[in-house]
Amino acid sequence: MANLSLDGTTKVFDDGDDEIVAVNDIDLEIEDGEFVVLVGPSGCGKSTTLRMIAGLDTPTSGTISIGGEPIQDKRPQERDIAMVFQSYALYPHMTVRENMSFGLEESTDMSDDEIRETVEDAAETLGITPLLDRKPGALSGGQQQRVALGRAIVRNPEVFLLDEPLSNLDAKLRAQMRTELQQLQNDLGVTTMYVTHDQTEAMTMGDRIAILNDGELQQLGTPMECYHEPSNVFVAGFLGEPAMNFFDLELDGGTLRGDGFDYALSPEVAADVDGHTDVTLGIRPESVDIIDDIDDAADEDVIPATVEVVEPHGDENAVHLRIGDETDASLTVMIDGMRYLSAGQEVGVRFPEDAIHLFDGVTGEALH
Ligand code: ATP
Repeated sequence: MANLSLDGTTKVFDDGDDEIVAVNDIDLEIEDGEFVVLVGPSGCGKSTTLRMIAGLDTPTSGTISIGGEPIQDKRPQERDIAMVFQSYALYPHMTVRENMSFGLEESTDMSDDEIRETVEDAAETLGITPLLDRKPGALSGGQQQRVALGRAIVRNPEVFLLDEPLSNLDAKLRAQMRTELQQLQNDLGVTTMYVTHDQTEAMTMGDRIAILNDGELQQLGTPMECYHEPSNVFVAGFLGEPAMNFFDLELDGGTLRGDGFDYALSPEVAADVDGHTDVTLGIRPESVDIIDDIDDAADEDVIPATVEVVEPHGDENAVHLRIGDETDASLTVMIDGMRYLSAGQEVGVRFPEDAIHLFDGVTGEALH
């Protein structure tokens, strides 16, 4: 079983006067054959995590195991891991065939015939057979990417590590390669950790996603779990485009009070936030109702707002609104592309209670 686990894994870089905690006490288990995407903003520790697993950086503390066996003291070439880098790292003076054979010649006792067969099988799988005798300089970005993958596949590793492998490709090719990579990983059934800063890539590719911020694991779950049940404000704001709307409010009895509006909670929801004074309310742009004719909406839960900008996105429009007259509270709402709203229009917005997220205003932890 090639499950990959990190236990209390930490990396501190000593940068002269400063100590940089790049990865802070991460516990993470990837099951055999699972595809986990490690995602987070620039500098959050993604590459350092991957490099420690590959053996290119040494953990300051904690363990890393494959199939239950600690590997952190093994040299990179002794680990049954193949890594694909953002830069592809192909040898420019070698042909595609030589690039793919090289690792096998160096580190296995396979015969020349076995190596040729393995390379040709991988080339077939990746659709690059006609390119085998070309050099990397004569290949497109997408083709080079396939060769880099081919070089990893031929080693038949227990674990694949992929570090932003699609970031040098244009948007269309990236979307195509995402699907191909998922299919390939599924066919090969290799335990895979895939690093990206792109939340769309994470949401669409991973069996589960691990969200990192400031070197700390924020949440590990399926894309849907992380999207619908974020463990804290960071995860809630990181996943989703446009981002979730947040309002800093104060709990007063069963009502949240804030800049320009009050929000009355049902007794069940109020029980979840009981004892917290500062509460952040979050609601996704697709979950807000807009009521065009505010005169018809005498409901207490309708909040007056003014349309500031309408941004067409094709079949949907992003509407940016300001709450009340003189507040700093603004929000973005996604509406059907056929629905007409114009800048300056007075409308009402409503936050259905079953769509709201509530977080502690100080710690950011999810409360409801
Ligand atoms: P990006 O998406 O920009 O590649 P990342 O999430 O992969 O970022 P890391 O490259 O792992 O982040 O870096 C995490 C932190 O560790 C950053 O603050 C970075 O500056 C620091 N760091 C990384 N490598 C070193 C090093 N060799 N020496 C000192 N600090 C380092």
